[in-house]
Amino acid sequence: MDRETMVAAEGVRKRFGRTEVLKGIDLKVRAGEVCCVLGPSGSGKSTFLRCVNHLEKINGGRLWVNGRLVGYRHRGDRLYEMREHEIAAQRREIGMVFQRFNLFPHMTALENVIEGPVQVKREPVERARRHGLELLDRVGLADRADAYPGHLSGGQQQRVAIARSLAMRPELMLFDEPTSALDPELVGEVLEVMRDLARDGMTMIVVTHEIGFAREVADHLVFMDGGVVVEEGDPTAVLDSPRQERTRAFLSKVL
Ligand code: ADP
Ligand code: MG
Repeated sequence: MDRETMVAAEGVRKRFGRTEVLKGIDLKVRAGEVCCVLGPSGSGKSTFLRCVNHLEKINGGRLWVNGRLVGYRHRGDRLYEMREHEIAAQRREIGMVFQRFNLFPHMTALENVIEGPVQVKREPVERARRHGLELLDRVGLADRADAYPGHLSGGQQQRVAIARSLAMRPELMLFDEPTSALDPELVGEVLEVMRDLARDGMTMIVVTHEIGFAREVADHLVFMDGGVVVEEGDPTAVLDSPRQERTRAFLSKVL
């Protein structure tokens, strides 16, 4: 795998019991690229992100993230399954933001942001705080560092969740419908933070139903259905002149 490729999936398969949810996903995401993933509910989008983030183990195919085969390591020319602590180290290179923000309710915004760096990475508290405040500033919440999640709006909580992921200095950010749980008037502020991250060169895979965002920000658009990538390419091309009937049918419902 070349250095420009951040994620490469080749024939990735995943089943739960007898149900095959991913039926051979082929996908490449280059470093610095924003890849938006669209597709109907149940098409396997979240499962794919969870495989990239080591939350699910694949049943077939190969998956590379940041130059390494997920879940395996080389020794000489042999492959070994990774141990838990090795998996944990690989996962630290990846940030993930979910539909639900899952902040610790008994911790302030800043405490939520520095928890990972201090507890997992053993960063000195002062350094973590400085970086945490920078990140809160970056997501427009410098003045809410001491607020508890219960006193923040959904959009603000999601921005804290993004800052918390960034605090681990990830190489890759995964977003799984980050605005789907928000009231409509709060969606824009979260998308604005994501747009800013994209401009800054962060590699991102974003599962979203926000077609406008995908059109404007994505370098690469992927349409998934039934556990496969049905169509992909330049966002404008896929959105304005989809080649596949399934893509057309989906877009006619959401546009
Ligand atoms: P999407 O994110 O595109 O809506 P998902 O990846 O969440 O789709 O789910 C794809 C399919 O896999 C769905 O039918 C879902 O019910 C099933 N699925 C997801 N996770 C599990 C699981 N842990 N156990 C069993 N089935 C699952
Ligand atoms: Mg999903």
